Amino acid sequence: MSHLENVLEHNRNFVINEDFKTFNTSKFPDKKIVILTCMDTRLVEMVPQAMNVSHGDAAIVKNAGAVISHPFGSIMRSILVAINSLGAEQVYVVGHHDCGMAQLHPDTLIEQSGVSQEKIDVLKNAGIDLDTWLTGFEHVEDSVRNSVNIIKNHPLLGDHIPVHGLVIHPETGKLDLVVNGEVAHS
Ligand SMILES: [Zn+2]
Repeated sequence: MSHLENVLEHNRNFVINEDFKTFNTSKFPDKKIVILTCMDTRLVEMVPQAMNVSHGDAAIVKNAGAVISHPFGSIMRSILVAINSLGAEQVYVVGHHDCGMAQLHPDTLIEQSGVSQEKIDVLKNAGIDLDTWLTGFEHVEDSVRNSVNIIKNHPLLGDHIPVHGLVIHPETGKLDLVVNGEVAHS
């Protein structure tokens, strides 16, 4: 049985057994927060539990590194939707130690893709700046601080929204504070 077939088989039972009933909640985050964090598998359940966030409590936005690369990209848009449409009143940017985006190098990633040099050249000749796009960060605290600043200074974000920055340890779940949005706000 393929992985997809396994998923669909499991899903049939999930629905028949009414397992969905334990997940009943609204789309509005009960704790009125939006969290931007990394897609790292170690954080899937750890971040919510380490932050005392249960199902329905928060809108959670994820990407590689919890990075906002562009103030008008899809990550920032998601955060704005969480605030302006879903009622979130605070933002938490949660990076983590030992992140794959730390010291990500474009050459290595391109090599790992197995794509031919010709295709890479076509992209570069078309003006795609792969070097910038595929470069990660050196220090996670700097990256978190940078993402917090992009959110905080966004023209479509209300002044009253605190934006916090934290770094979580993927083994212990310990949170280190990088930016206290309450202090920065006042
Ligand atoms: Zn990560």
